[in-house]
Amino acid sequence: MLRVVALRVGALLLVMALPAALGGWFGGALGAALGALAALLAVLVRDSVQLARLLRWLRWPSRERLPAVHGVWSEVLYRSARQLRLWEGRLQREEDKLARFIEALQASPNGVMMIDASGQIDWCNATAASHFGLDPQRDLRQHAVHLIRNPEFFAYMAARRFAEPLLMRRVGPAGTLLLNIQVMPYGDGQKLLLSRDVTQVERTEAMRRDFVANVSHEIKTPLTVIAGFIESLRTLQLSDAERERMLVLMQEQSDRMRRLVEDLLTLAHLEGDPHQPAEETVRMPALVERLAEEARALSQGRHVIEVEADRGDLRGASAELTSAFSNLVSNAVRYTPEGGRVRIAWRVARDDDDGLQWAEFSVRDSGIGIAPEHIPRLTERFYRVDRGRSRESGGTGLGLAIVKHALLRHQAELRVVSQFGQGSTFSARFPAARIVDAD
Ligand code: ADP
Repeated sequence: MLRVVALRVGALLLVMALPAALGGWFGGALGAALGALAALLAVLVRDSVQLARLLRWLRWPSRERLPAVHGVWSEVLYRSARQLRLWEGRLQREEDKLARFIEALQASPNGVMMIDASGQIDWCNATAASHFGLDPQRDLRQHAVHLIRNPEFFAYMAARRFAEPLLMRRVGPAGTLLLNIQVMPYGDGQKLLLSRDVTQVERTEAMRRDFVANVSHEIKTPLTVIAGFIESLRTLQLSDAERERMLVLMQEQSDRMRRLVEDLLTLAHLEGDPHQPAEETVRMPALVERLAEEARALSQGRHVIEVEADRGDLRGASAELTSAFSNLVSNAVRYTPEGGRVRIAWRVARDDDDGLQWAEFSVRDSGIGIAPEHIPRLTERFYRVDRGRSRESGGTGLGLAIVKHALLRHQAELRVVSQFGQGSTFSARFPAARIVDAD
């Protein structure tokens, strides 16, 4: 600092020396004093102008528009500009960090909301906004409980017992959402609110509960019947004919349980196996003939079974496809009254140059048909239009669920066209990539 003062004073004295000498030359001591004073005044005015420019620039500093200053002021300007550059760099880095942080919060699949000490929303990400039906810009600085108009949420926030999460239902434009809400107090009375959409989790859990209840029920019924017969065989004096009749009925019930367990295992395998099905060539015309034989055996002459098969085979897992087609054929026989018709068809569509387009396996029957409201639910596990009829004919309620999964794994979809009282057609269309030309 001393060096700067010494330099400044030295320079000032030098600037004053020449006019003082000139004044002294012309006007003696008075002239020298006037010369020195005039020089001092000129330096002061020049300094004041430069200082004013610098002060004006410091009010709105900008590195693009620098003031015209010289000498020591240019040094001050240079140092201030350098400081400014440092601050700007630091600010930019902080802003980038904040932007990245906000981006990460926006990318979160969970809703994130910051609530200040007075209960107003400080910030929320797009997921929280969609969970609570808010506008992330317009609704900032509004009270959270006023915007999220829900009595359970209001009570939860008022009780301040945040150790347990809140499960809250909210009716939105896309239906009812089930939200899991957690609140974490932090800082000086602020709160961090996290929301998670658990609608699907809850739905899956409900399906799992239904499934377990259904399986238990399906197994319980034949078991109860068998247990009853065992009791009768042990305690009652029965004739040979009666004993034989009971054993036949017990056999039927145990067959029913076996079929159920087999279908459950097939379904578990289809649903749980993420691997692509094995790639074998399934000889379709031969399979269609075999399925027709099975249908005739099941029908025992009560129906007319027809077959139609184009040339061309299918690539996929033989066991899965056979099980799916066989389920469709046995349904057609079981749900078609005596005297009806069942037509099993394999059609391969080709373009004008004999190129493969698609192939379709279908089973058409002239049976009882299905009312339109049931059709979308047919592939649900244990869904039956007529429970009694299904059981009577040996159904497990899992056949079409198996068909659906087996076909999906082969890029085919089950299509159902039916008219109540007239009959149904179940078909599966396969893409060209799955067809093998017999030639
Ligand atoms: P199930 O073992 O009961 O036959 P599925 O899953 O195979 O179970 O079929 C579900 C339901 O769809 C059946 O219970 C029946 O009501 C209906 N259904 C299936 N196929 C036919 C068909 N060809 N004609 C009429 N109804 C059918």
